[in-house]
Amino acid sequence: MTVQNYINGEYKDPISNQWIDNYCPANGQVYGKIPNSSKTDVENAYKAAKAAFTSWSQTTLNERSKILIKIAELLEANIQHFAQAESQDNGKPISLAKSIDIPRAASNFRFFGNAITQFASESHESTGLNAINYTLRQPIGVVACISPWNLPLYLFTWKIAPAIASGNCVVAKPSEITPVTAFLLGKICNDAGLPKGVLNIVHGLGNTTGQAIIEHPYIKAISFTGGTETGTHIAAVAAPMFKKLSLELGGKNPNIIFADCDYNDMLETTVRSSFANQGQICLCGSRIFVEATIYEKFKTDFIAKVKDLKVGHPSNANTQIGALVSKNHLEKVMHYIEIAKNENGKILYGGNKVTIKNYEDGYYLEPTIIEVKTNDCRINQEEIFGPIVTIMPFKTEQEVLQMANKVKYGLSATIWTNNLKRAMHISNQIQAGIVWINTWMLRDLRTPFGGIKASGIGREGGFEALRFFTETKNICIKY
Ligand code: NDP
Repeated sequence: MTVQNYINGEYKDPISNQWIDNYCPANGQVYGKIPNSSKTDVENAYKAAKAAFTSWSQTTLNERSKILIKIAELLEANIQHFAQAESQDNGKPISLAKSIDIPRAASNFRFFGNAITQFASESHESTGLNAINYTLRQPIGVVACISPWNLPLYLFTWKIAPAIASGNCVVAKPSEITPVTAFLLGKICNDAGLPKGVLNIVHGLGNTTGQAIIEHPYIKAISFTGGTETGTHIAAVAAPMFKKLSLELGGKNPNIIFADCDYNDMLETTVRSSFANQGQICLCGSRIFVEATIYEKFKTDFIAKVKDLKVGHPSNANTQIGALVSKNHLEKVMHYIEIAKNENGKILYGGNKVTIKNYEDGYYLEPTIIEVKTNDCRINQEEIFGPIVTIMPFKTEQEVLQMANKVKYGLSATIWTNNLKRAMHISNQIQAGIVWINTWMLRDLRTPFGGIKASGIGREGGFEALRFFTETKNICIKY
C-alpha cells in the first residue's frame, strides 16, 4: 500500500519523490511505502491550512459540529476496514482495534462536535465601575498535531478533533511507524464535507518532517503526544517562538494493591492494565506494588492468569497479545529484560521471544513479569513501554506512597482498596495527573487528561482541549 500526503483535500506524493518502507509487525515484511516528506511538503501543508483559516474560523458552530459528527459516522460505518488497517500496521489484536481504537477515534469527533456547541466563555460585570468585561476564545490559526504509534488513529484524532472544532486549521503528522489509518482518514474527511485545507496530513520522519513542523514560525501551537525525550526537544525549539504547547509524554505508572481490595476484580483488571496493547499504552500500570500479606497469593494467581494470555497473529480473533510495533522497539524492550537480569530481577514468567508458525519474523514477545527487590532499579525507573511489568511487596501506606512517587514521571496511578480514608489520602498525595481507584483506564472524554513531572505539561480532554486550541482575549467596555 502506498500512503500519500493529504494536502488541501487532495492526496499527493512527496515533492522529492522520496519514500520510506512501511513494515508489518506481524510478519516483519515491508508491505508498503510512505512519503519521506520534506520542508517543502510541510510548507505546502501550512499554506493550504492558512488559506482555509479565514473561512473555517467563521464557519458556524452548528456547521462545524455537523461535519465532525459526520466524520464520526463515516468512521463507524467503515470500522471493519479501519480496524484491519490499524491491526496490520501496528500489530495490535484486531479485537482491540475493533473494540477500542476505531470506536474511540469516532467518539473523539462526535464528542468535540458536540462539545463545541456547549463551549462558553465568561463575562464579568465590574460592579461600581460601570464596566463589563467579556472574554473571547478565538481560534489560534494554523496548529500542529503530532502523535505516536501506540494508539495511532485514537490519539491522532484526539488532537485533530478539538483543533478543528474550535476553528483552527491543522498540519498533522502521525508516527512514521503507523501511518495508514491517518492516510485513510483524509478520504473520510472529504466525504464528510470538511472544506479543503482545514486538515492537512504530512507523513515522514520525526527528525525531518516533524522537525519542519515544530520549527515553522507561523504554526503557533503544537499538541504533541510521544516520548519524554522528543517532548523536551520540542519544548526547546518552541520556547523562543512562544508557541503554545501541550505535551503528553511518557509514564511509569504505579499500580498499588492493598489486601482489602475486591481481589478478583483487581486481578482481572491488573492483567489488562499490565498487558493491553502489548503493554504499549502510556497509562499501563508497569510498576505493581502489592501489600505483603497477599503478595505470595497474588504472585501465584497473576502468573496463572498471564500464562493463559494468547500471544498470536493480530488478525486472529482470539489473540490477546499481538506483535510489538517494530523490530527496533522489540529489541529495546528485550534489552530491558537483560538489564533486569543484571540488576538481580527475577523473571517470574515470560522474558522470551515468541515464534509464530508462518510468521517467524514477526515481533512477538511473551508477557513478562519481573520481581524486583527495590524501586530504585532501572526497570522500575525507566519507561519500557512493552509487555513487561515489575512486582514487589510493601508493608505500609507511607512506604508505598514514597516508592510510587520516587520516579521522574507522573502520568497516572491505580489504587486498589476498599478503605475510603486510605484511597483519599493516597490519591491526594500521589504525584500523577490521573488517578484510578478500583479501576483502570475508565475514560470519560470530559475529564482533564495529562501528566505532571516528566510526563508533560497541559491537559487534553473536554473543555481543557478547547481552551488549549483557542487564544483568550478579554474585552472591557465602560458604559
Ligand atoms: P516519539 O517521541 O518517538 O514520537 C512521537 C511523534 O513525534 C512521532 O510522530 C514522531 O515521528 C514525532 N517526532 C519525533 N521526533 C520529532 C521532532 N524532532 N520533531 C517533531 N516530531 C518528532 O514517541 P513514540 O512514537 O515512540 O511513542 C511512544 C511514546 O509516546 C512513549 O514514551 C509513550 O509513553 C508516549 N505516549 C504518551 C501518551 C500520553 O498521553 N502521555 C500516550 C501515548 C504514548 P516518527 O515516529 O516519525 O519519528
